[in-house]
Amino acid sequence: MDENTTDSRTVALVTGANKGIGYEIAAGLGALGWRVGVGARDEGRRAAAVAALRAGGADAFGVPLDVTDDASAAAAVLAERFGRLDVLVNNAAVTGSVPQEPTVVDLAEVRTVLETNVLGVIRVTNALLPLLRRSASPRIVNMSSVVGSLTRQSDPAGETGPISAAYSPSKTLLNAVTVQYAKELRGTGVLVNLGCPGFCATDLNGHRGTRSPEQGARVAIRLATLPDDGPSGAFFDEDGPLPW
Ligand code: NAP
Repeated sequence: MDENTTDSRTVALVTGANKGIGYEIAAGLGALGWRVGVGARDEGRRAAAVAALRAGGADAFGVPLDVTDDASAAAAVLAERFGRLDVLVNNAAVTGSVPQEPTVVDLAEVRTVLETNVLGVIRVTNALLPLLRRSASPRIVNMSSVVGSLTRQSDPAGETGPISAAYSPSKTLLNAVTVQYAKELRGTGVLVNLGCPGFCATDLNGHRGTRSPEQGARVAIRLATLPDDGPSGAFFDEDGPLPW
């Protein structure tokens, strides 16, 4: 550990923070005066995001992280610099390629999407949990989507995006896994919740979204700053609770 270990400022890590909503989450947390780790798999994109965030006044630092790979190196960076982690935002995700109708979907695509969107969250969370447990008010925010809501998906009148056997079910499973984390971590002080950013214009959807990435980041910032008596195992968008 270096001298920064005694720093009382909140330390956060956002996965997939080099662009899109993740970048705006990092910017928003940086604006709170927090130290923000930019978890990103590509060295050049990570460095560019860190530079841009710093230019905007955030105390950002890079954390090499591919969520489909071993996350122990990212944990080592945080352990060395701060000795703890206060907030983890699991934001990185992929949609997978089309077609995604279940009758024709390529199983390799389903595996890829689940590997990133679900197993990646478990992998990163478990690697960083020992550092989160050293925080006075640990928070985990998992970025989900309303397309993971089975209530909405099974409503014939519901507007839940295209038929998808990979991306939407990956968010349903992420929701289910997050509830299990909340159950296991109950009473430990670790609050773990799900945020849906709404339909935001990013590379994920060819910039067809109607909200800005900055708007999408708001729910994550709210869940990252929950008080100690805040909810855990809940699913929110900016307007409030979402149906499972
Ligand atoms: P985006 O612009 O495509 O950004 C995705 C981020 O995830 C990128 O930084 C990407 O890094 C990173 N990523 C992907 N695979 C990774 C891996 N294996 N390891 C590390 N990073 C990886 O997507 P977005 O729209 O900002 O989405 C952010 C979150 O919001 C996702 O969880 C998404 O499911 C959720 N969401 C988005 C919308 C929307 O309308 N945009 C709606 C509902 C939910 P690279 O640049 O290296 O690829």
